Amino acid sequence: MDVLNLIGGRWVEGDGAEFADTNPARPAEVVARGRHASPAEVGRAIVAAREAAPGWAATPHHARAAVLTAAADLVDADAEEWGAELAREEGKTLPEAVAEVRGAARILRYYASEADRENGEVFASPRPGEQVLVVRKPIGVAGLITPFNFPIAIPAWKIAPALTYGNTVVWKPSSLVPLLAYRLAGALTSAGLPDGVLNLVYGEAEAGSAIVDHPGVDAVSFTGSTAVGRAVIARCGELGKPVQTEMGGKNASIVLADADLDHAAEQVCVGAFRSTGQKCTATSRLIVAEQVADELLHRVAERAARLVVGDPLEAGVEMGPLVSSAARDRVTAGVAQAVGEGAKPLAGGASLEREGWFVPPTLLDLPGTGVDFWRTELFGPVVGAVRASSAEEALGLANLSDHGLSAAVFTRDLGFALRAVERLEVGVLHVNSESAGTFPYVPFGGAKQSGFGPKEQGRAAREFYTRTVTVYLGTPA
Ligand code: NAP
Repeated sequence: MDVLNLIGGRWVEGDGAEFADTNPARPAEVVARGRHASPAEVGRAIVAAREAAPGWAATPHHARAAVLTAAADLVDADAEEWGAELAREEGKTLPEAVAEVRGAARILRYYASEADRENGEVFASPRPGEQVLVVRKPIGVAGLITPFNFPIAIPAWKIAPALTYGNTVVWKPSSLVPLLAYRLAGALTSAGLPDGVLNLVYGEAEAGSAIVDHPGVDAVSFTGSTAVGRAVIARCGELGKPVQTEMGGKNASIVLADADLDHAAEQVCVGAFRSTGQKCTATSRLIVAEQVADELLHRVAERAARLVVGDPLEAGVEMGPLVSSAARDRVTAGVAQAVGEGAKPLAGGASLEREGWFVPPTLLDLPGTGVDFWRTELFGPVVGAVRASSAEEALGLANLSDHGLSAAVFTRDLGFALRAVERLEVGVLHVNSESAGTFPYVPFGGAKQSGFGPKEQGRAAREFYTRTVTVYLGTPA
């Protein structure tokens, strides 16, 4: 399959380097081929987005919404086929991949429905005959940079709010997942998006920097690792450009002694191993009350060992490969380092002898929080456990991280759950469910080094993709 860049309404080959997108379960199999856009071509895409901006902003919100709804129908219609393509290029299992594609359609519909909601405020004025209106306007051209791990859902939750609120877009997807980017952009153009409103440019760091640096981009929304996100924040700061970043996590699950251990063990496994642990909200730290630690770890290890690892397209497979050889090497090295620092593998640990970028689901019994594993995001199916002697200590251990994306607590004690809400330094908290999982109509994003700027999803997205004008509307004398 050949994929193309989308610039000013034209599908173009790209004047940069050639690339081949391969299947992480069978690295010799090419899923898609194309060419990157050079920085000059990224510049042309930005100019096209600028030219399209006034017309799109002036288009009635309901007409903009109709395009999103039509695109959602197209995405849904092809969900099975695109799900299989997503599984082949990213490595998550087919059911998860199809669910992600359908999730993207749902996000498009949610932001279409924004046309039916209030989009401003009215205040009273102390002056007779006057009222104060707060109206919202588009920010202009949004530069969007997305990661590999949700190739269609994360782009949808940036592109859909950008478009619904009247902005035009220049989007650089992760170079690891170009095919689903091509599919989503194709659905939006087939749904009737005017030329230049959405521009898709393939490329790596250079293309991302070209978007961030360009004076024609009014605001940047980035999702990816904390290291790159911080560089993007710094550059936008220099340029005085609004920026929103969602970054890495090192998410903790706390299991107290009163928890339903079977449920907690099952949810910890889902949180740690689903999508091969390649979720920003995946469970990677486990904090267990010492009274039940041996039992809980035994149950998690047993489930981890039973997980069916294999080709994501095969029925019954529960965990696929990591996305790339670099990811496999990073995760393998991180586990080896943890073992070198005294961690004991209770499940997995060694590498898997098979074709593709596979690692086993791994549970590490950590010697304490001094190990590098406690601080560094591995972004793979690895969870490391420590014991806590009290509920208060468990909260302190969970907060012992530079990251603050999500957390989960498992308990029957409502008082503890409320203390966790108060004390845990995270943007997303699950009580009695795994640390991952989000709904498109509520805010999503992290605290501390996991997020910067307004949150994404739900109405929170409006804070980033619009600016307000406060209007003192007096009556003529
Ligand atoms: P990444 O390596 O940081 O890449 C993210 C995006 O930034 C990619 O499109 C990448 O391009 C681009 N990029 C790389 N260097 C850049 C630069 N100097 N300037 C501008 N753009 C640049 O992240 P990833 O490996 O794709 O994704 C995994 C990470 O994302 C994990 O840390 C995960 O926790 C995080 N994540 C966070 C959330 C959240 O909502 N908090 C959600 C999902 C993932 P190329 O890769 O094509 O070079």
